[in-house]
Amino acid sequence: MTQSFPLLPLRDIVVFPQMVVPLFVGRDRSVAALERAMAGDKDIFLVAQLDPAEDDPGSDDLFDLGVIASVLQLLKLPDGTVRVLVEGKGRARLTSLESHEGWTEAHVEALAEPGEDSPELTALMRTTISQFGDYAKLNKRLPAETVTQLEQLERASQVADTIAANLNVKVADKQAMLSEADVAKRLEMVLAFMEGELGALQVEKRIRGRVKRQMEKTQREYYLNEQLKAIQRELGGAGDDEGGEGEIAELQAKIDKAKMPKEARTRALAELKKLKGMAPMSAEATVVRNYLDVMLGVPWGKASKIKSDIGAAQAVLDEDHFGLEKVKERIVEYLAVQARTRKLKGPILCLVGPPGVGKTSLGRSIARATGRKFVRQSLGGVRDEAEIRGHRRTYIGSMPGKIVANLKKAETMNPLFLLDEIDKLGQDFRGDPASALLEVLDPEQNSKFNDHYLELDLDLSNVMFVTTANSLNLPQPLLDRMEIIRLEGYTEDEKVEIAKRHLLPKQVEAHGLKAGEFVLEEDALRDLIRFYTREAGVRTLEREIAKLARKSLRRILEKQTEAVTVTTANLHEFAGVRKYRFGVGEEEDQVGAVTGLAWTEVGGELLTIEAVTVPGKGQVKTTGKLGDVMTESVQAAMSYVKARAPAYGIKPSLFQRKDIHIHLPEGAVPKDGPSAGIGMVTAMVSTLTGIAVRRDVAMTGEVTLRGRVLPIGGLKEKLLAAQRGNIRTVLIPEENEKDLAEIPDSVKGALEIVPVRHVDEVLERALVRAPEAIEWTDADELAVAPVGGASAGEAAVRH
Ligand code: ADP
Repeated sequence: MTQSFPLLPLRDIVVFPQMVVPLFVGRDRSVAALERAMAGDKDIFLVAQLDPAEDDPGSDDLFDLGVIASVLQLLKLPDGTVRVLVEGKGRARLTSLESHEGWTEAHVEALAEPGEDSPELTALMRTTISQFGDYAKLNKRLPAETVTQLEQLERASQVADTIAANLNVKVADKQAMLSEADVAKRLEMVLAFMEGELGALQVEKRIRGRVKRQMEKTQREYYLNEQLKAIQRELGGAGDDEGGEGEIAELQAKIDKAKMPKEARTRALAELKKLKGMAPMSAEATVVRNYLDVMLGVPWGKASKIKSDIGAAQAVLDEDHFGLEKVKERIVEYLAVQARTRKLKGPILCLVGPPGVGKTSLGRSIARATGRKFVRQSLGGVRDEAEIRGHRRTYIGSMPGKIVANLKKAETMNPLFLLDEIDKLGQDFRGDPASALLEVLDPEQNSKFNDHYLELDLDLSNVMFVTTANSLNLPQPLLDRMEIIRLEGYTEDEKVEIAKRHLLPKQVEAHGLKAGEFVLEEDALRDLIRFYTREAGVRTLEREIAKLARKSLRRILEKQTEAVTVTTANLHEFAGVRKYRFGVGEEEDQVGAVTGLAWTEVGGELLTIEAVTVPGKGQVKTTGKLGDVMTESVQAAMSYVKARAPAYGIKPSLFQRKDIHIHLPEGAVPKDGPSAGIGMVTAMVSTLTGIAVRRDVAMTGEVTLRGRVLPIGGLKEKLLAAQRGNIRTVLIPEENEKDLAEIPDSVKGALEIVPVRHVDEVLERALVRAPEAIEWTDADELAVAPVGGASAGEAAVRH
């Protein structure tokens, strides 16, 4: 059914049925159309233009679907435009236009709305309504009552239209919803648009939230910073100092005052400039400030005046140390060369010896003798190159290396650096500290030592380096740079002298005791050395003396007595129970137990070598502390004993039934494995023959497969150990006889030192009685199959 109404084309709006909308109408033809409608039954046809800019749209310029609406109100405005309130009534399709004078008549076909809603449609409607609820919450532009109104609607088509009218979408999209005749599809379209809109709205909401938070944070920080400044002003009384200006000025003054070389100054000023541009409380500022602190901590241009009076140096060394004549002589010579050349270009002094022999205190004395500041740095366990050279600054919490740290401690650029325990330097994946150290010690390179943290060249060429080590177990390149001075252990007499002259007075003073309040009788001191210490140096002795002083002081303070005299009789009251037995000589002679002499990092030591026979097949087993070298010398000893068995009265058939088990008790690992050779042979012969070994005889010497005794190292240390152990007789290789010239007379006087060339001489001296030789048969030949390690040819050698 075709109807006709005056045409009101709409530029940018789509009106839906049931919608009441105000419109502003300005075009003459539109105003005329309205007047026409008002003159009739007030109905009008509303349809959207394809192009909103078109002023006089023809039928091609209009969508074909619009609404028939009735005008509820019309108001003429003074400027000639008209405001109308219209209400959409129902959809209609435009079929044709009829142009009249002044206005246009639209011929339209009204579209009937569908009848009953299906249950599916009702369900879809509900979903759409609830979705719209969410949408309305986010979209502030929607009037709050829209949702309530929606819920009162009964028809799905009404719901779809109402929502469509309220959606914030393009005209074309609204038009598409108006054009859709199928209500279910219309609802779906509405839903889809809402989804899209919802997503956009949510993003918008998030952004809004973020912006808000950001603003709050900025404000909060500003506020806190202001508060902080106020607090700082209160505390520091820094007046109106706006954040760190005073600090900058202070640093500037320090940099000006420091006698930095040009490169360092440029660097420091650049860092200071960076600091100026930074927020004073920021992490970056802290990093820069630390750097400047370290930099200013370097004692640029400061130096002690070096004393070069050699006579005075000798006097200082003598004053601080008893004995050590040769050592002191070498040191003074070394200082003389330095004084003459006024350079530190020689090799580096390296003091090598067991603990407690005075290496560190000699270093201190050298510093005193030359007027240098003294800094000690232990290298024990240093594994990381960065400990010496520092961490790069890129690293959080990075620090300069120990060299820089110690220069700061020394407060001068020409101190004496004592690098302790250089033989304990580690090496692992974090870089090789030894090579960094090489650079430090090398006079050719150390005028430009580069610390990773400072990233500057430091001149270490005026630092005097002295190193210490327990052993010469050092990388060759380091060894090459050093002048080795050996310190051996002290004899008992020397220890007594050192204690009387140095250790005692030092402890008396350290404990604030007055003259005459504390006396340690010499015999008691000797007992202290014998029964409470077992060492090459005097470190434990010093501790024991400190203990006596402490206990004496306590007695005096508690008014038990006015003065303490420690004697052999009351020593135990102060020092406690005896810790060591003096000498194994007091023990009984035993079968299979030999006193060997070992040379270890802590000096010489007595070493008990034990051998027993166990059921077996002529093999040798070992337990305890044996290195590879010792294990080999055990095999060699066994081969020798097998080859010579009959001469010592041992039935070779014994080796078909017995194994020998050698045990070395725990203790420091000997540096010289093979020197236990003659001890092993003696222990084996003793256990196989059942003849006991003299306990007061100690021995050292390597043995060949033919029984010859080869020379050993560390003779002095070993003899000192023998003396400490109260040994009477020491068997040494004949080839070591020449070394006896170096041994103090007090040691030589206390021991019977017997040079030996062959194992037979050893057995003669060491066993309590001589073994009797037996006959050698062909059957015996078969019995003595060589043991592992030695080849058949060697083992078959006989005398
Ligand atoms: P090291 O560095 O070799 O382990 P120390 O220098 O620490 O040994 O010496 C331990 C203690 O013994 C120090 O108090 C030291 O002064 C003292 N001492 C060592 N040898 C002597 C000596 N010959 N004269 C005087 N005191 C000594």
